[in-house]
Amino acid sequence: MTFADLALAPGLLSALAEEGYVSPTPIQAQSIPMLLEGRDLLGMAQTGTGKTASFALPLLHRLAGAPRPAPAGGARVLVLAPTRELVSQIADGFERFGRHQTLSVTTIFGGVSQFHQVNALRAGVDIIVATPGRLLDLIEQGLCNLSQLEALVLDEADQMLDMGFAKPIEQIVETLPKDRHTVLFSATMPKSIATLAESLLRDPAKVEI
Ligand code: AMP
Repeated sequence: MTFADLALAPGLLSALAEEGYVSPTPIQAQSIPMLLEGRDLLGMAQTGTGKTASFALPLLHRLAGAPRPAPAGGARVLVLAPTRELVSQIADGFERFGRHQTLSVTTIFGGVSQFHQVNALRAGVDIIVATPGRLLDLIEQGLCNLSQLEALVLDEADQMLDMGFAKPIEQIVETLPKDRHTVLFSATMPKSIATLAESLLRDPAKVEI
């Protein structure tokens, strides 16, 4: 199987070719068709398996196929991840794969001034990649409004729970539309993740590698 078999937008196929990606990894081959259909997804996969592209490519395809202005002070897609390093890597992936489409991606994490993050948000962005604590902080200050969000991804959900982000995630999710596309990836599937998945996902496709 090649990426061309996955019916992705032409700009994405060009970017993949430029990145030297030829064939989807197993997690990509399983996840991408489900997400292109609009199914929610529960994925069990470790870092290094290609899971970033598993969710980034179908979400970029969705944005390319339905261009509209990003909602002011908000975003169309939100990705939550446990650490600043992972947030930066994921944002970099969206920018690389999305280089042939008009796209704004912003990162939000703690430990730095919120000034640039707030400025970037003001006009609205297509994609926010964030750690839960700082994002909730901005929402509570009225500086970020995600009521128009279309899609939510939780990456490394088990690590986020281990780091004590269960409550901030719950508080963020309360501000999101119920009618949205949701993806959850976790390296392990303890009961706490099963419960979180149950509360967030609607009839999810399940993939595991
Ligand atoms: P990830 O698990 O998303 O962090 O990806 C791990 C590494 O594999 C990253 O350096 C990606 O650029 C690379 N990668 C992911 N998918 C593919 C693919 N289909 N072909 C070649 N390299 C890939």
